Amino acid sequence: MQAKDLLQLAEQFGNPLYVYDAEKIQSQYNRLTKAFSKVDKLRINYAMKALSNVAILQLIKEMGAGLDTVSIQEVLLGLHAGYAPDKIFYTPNGVSLEEIEEVNAMGVQINIDNLSILEQFGTKHPTVPVCIRINPHVMAGGNTNISVGHIDSKFGISIHQLPHLLRIVENTKMNIVGIHMHTGSDILDIEVFLYAAEILFDVAKKFKNLEFLDFGSGFKVPYKKDDIETDIEELGKKLSKRFNAFCTEYGKDLTLIFEPGKFLVSEAGFFLAKVNVVKQTTSTVFAGIDSGFNHLIRPMFYGSQHHIENISHPKGKERFYSVVGYICETDTFANNRRISEIKEGDILCFRNAGAYCFSMASNYNSRYKPAEVLWINGEGHLIRKQENFEDLLKNQIPLPIAAATV
Ligand SMILES: *Cc1c(COP(=O)(O)O)cnc(C)c1O
Repeated sequence: MQAKDLLQLAEQFGNPLYVYDAEKIQSQYNRLTKAFSKVDKLRINYAMKALSNVAILQLIKEMGAGLDTVSIQEVLLGLHAGYAPDKIFYTPNGVSLEEIEEVNAMGVQINIDNLSILEQFGTKHPTVPVCIRINPHVMAGGNTNISVGHIDSKFGISIHQLPHLLRIVENTKMNIVGIHMHTGSDILDIEVFLYAAEILFDVAKKFKNLEFLDFGSGFKVPYKKDDIETDIEELGKKLSKRFNAFCTEYGKDLTLIFEPGKFLVSEAGFFLAKVNVVKQTTSTVFAGIDSGFNHLIRPMFYGSQHHIENISHPKGKERFYSVVGYICETDTFANNRRISEIKEGDILCFRNAGAYCFSMASNYNSRYKPAEVLWINGEGHLIRKQENFEDLLKNQIPLPIAAATV
């Protein structure tokens, strides 16, 4: 997408605004399937918590993907978007047995990540095909908030508990059809990922009726110029070869599954916001935008670096800015960032705004969540309206307090 297209969309639909480029999602999807083209049975399940607009879900469904969900509400959205139940995986953490049973009854593949629930579920439903989430205790993440494979993680069944796990499966005679791991976001080192894969293969050998192995996700995408990213092509080459060898050894062609969120949608997203005020203090030039962490929380929550451009005046002299929001507490999108000279009223464009941006937005400060636009075949389509005052009041129940307190 070009800056002029984004500016025109901001004009047409107002701002702040999220824009998603369909072509970029498709090209990332193609890259991934191509990298693993040597694997006979490959399945890509889009981790929808990254970006869950129904139009996006439908777009990704048309590409041939399945869906990875973490809550029953995500399952319902997936079904609403037209995914067949058997195209949906449910990979929750710490949810109730009741919710898992409810999702299973919809015909969705469930994935269990702790021994307590595994034993209870297996005892009640021994014939249901179940996937189990293993924690290989490999630190693949770039940030403690998003690394989920280490020893003190709340995710998955520890490989050190394998004997207990096997005893539960034997006692309940439950039907284990898949082994899963998701070591966390931001795989920087392919060798680390391959090492974790070996652990998964070792676990897989203990089960006789497997149909698939699910390697989760954690593919890192570049957030700034010259940023490191996961070398998908290299990973594809090495892991495909190893996976195919494992299938020969296992005696069955298993399905290889990935659950990318960020990889598919991060770079496809742009967040556009207007500069309300430029304020010079003794040490800093602040650009205060018409938004805050209510719309895009990653910089404050994870320390993520989103590249920011002044698309209204891209050719100006570069100056250093702190880009801040309007929320009444520390609300800094970027510190000491070089940006083409900013005037009040300019539109700033945040890159990598496709994953974990709109989906983590809130109504804090009683602000509306912004609109979303899908850019497809050279045209912008509104796929979510900006909220309005009625949305803020929607579930509130008026109580005549004055009358109640007399
Ligand atoms: C969040 C999540 C993913 C997606 O992770 P990305 O880093 O966005 O690719 C995949 N699998 C599971 C189980 C997840 O919780």
